[in-house]
Amino acid sequence: MRILLVEDELEMAGALSAALLRHDMVVDHVTTIAHAMQAARGELHDAIVLDRHLPGGDGLTLLATWRANGLSTPVIVLSASGELDDRLSGLDGGADDYLAKPFAVEELVARLRAVLRRPAALQAEVLKVGTLHFESAHREARVGATPLDLPRRELLVLEALMRRRGRTVLRDALEEAVYGFDDAIQSNALDTHVSRLRRKLDEAGCDVEIHTIRGVGYLLRQRP
Ligand code: CA
Repeated sequence: MRILLVEDELEMAGALSAALLRHDMVVDHVTTIAHAMQAARGELHDAIVLDRHLPGGDGLTLLATWRANGLSTPVIVLSASGELDDRLSGLDGGADDYLAKPFAVEELVARLRAVLRRPAALQAEVLKVGTLHFESAHREARVGATPLDLPRRELLVLEALMRRRGRTVLRDALEEAVYGFDDAIQSNALDTHVSRLRRKLDEAGCDVEIHTIRGVGYLLRQRP
């Protein structure tokens, strides 16, 4: 899951980013309305966390612009004040949920999971290819009944490949699924993740292979 975080308070943003990363989310953090507009343009994100009070404007005005432009990404609005009026104007203005500061970070994670679960397609999803299973709700991959011990980025690569099993997934698309805007990507990092994944799948006796399409990307499929 990739989250766009629009928050000008750096300490707050740092704490939120760290918490979301711990929950296997990729976070792109921006601090201004202009950068948020730019970042949302490609509709890369599964959800947006939008602070209401930003330098140079109100997050709700930005949200109204997004909705007028047809952006349908779920948005959770953060505000310094928790009055009922604010809450209602946030929801009327196209927010999917609303959190008043201060709040526990775990509360934001729970709300994000809730808005991301709303579309029917994302409900308690289990991806299966051969003996390989991926449970989106618990972020767990297993071969048969045996869980695979995968660090966050290997898990994200595996998820992206499983969602498009049998089809070539471009390197760019995989890097986009795994890295935030600010992450420095080493040129061979993706290949390293894939080769570790291959080794772990083989060691677990999995009947799934990750095929390299040289210079283009990767393809995951059940062994013939
Ligand atoms: Ca603020």
